[in-house]
Amino acid sequence: MDDAVEESAPCGLCGRRLIDVGGGADATFLEVTHGEPSVYVEEVFCTQQHAAEWLSRPLPARATPEPVETSSRWRDRLVAVTFAFSVLWGLGLMLLGAWAAVRLLGGWN
Ligand SMILES: [Zn+2]
Repeated sequence: MDDAVEESAPCGLCGRRLIDVGGGADATFLEVTHGEPSVYVEEVFCTQQHAAEWLSRPLPARATPEPVETSSRWRDRLVAVTFAFSVLWGLGLMLLGAWAAVRLLGGWN
């Protein structure tokens, strides 16, 4: 089923559907990681020749540009801060509860 989806995908170089070129027999799938911070690229090609030609060119930058990453990093930070605050709040309530329990049981008197 996944093969059917891949075979109808367009070649990353010429744009022809993989199934239209030799029935997708020579279809080539590439996963590339490059750069720093690393950029992950995956692409399919109708033939190995097209894959090789694509590889000989400069690799594309990530499809999602920097600003999206920055905003997601900020969201991660916000989630982390919120989580830390919740943990501290929970700890505070726990200490308050322990203190109240000690008072109730007659400790410190
Ligand atoms: Zn092609």
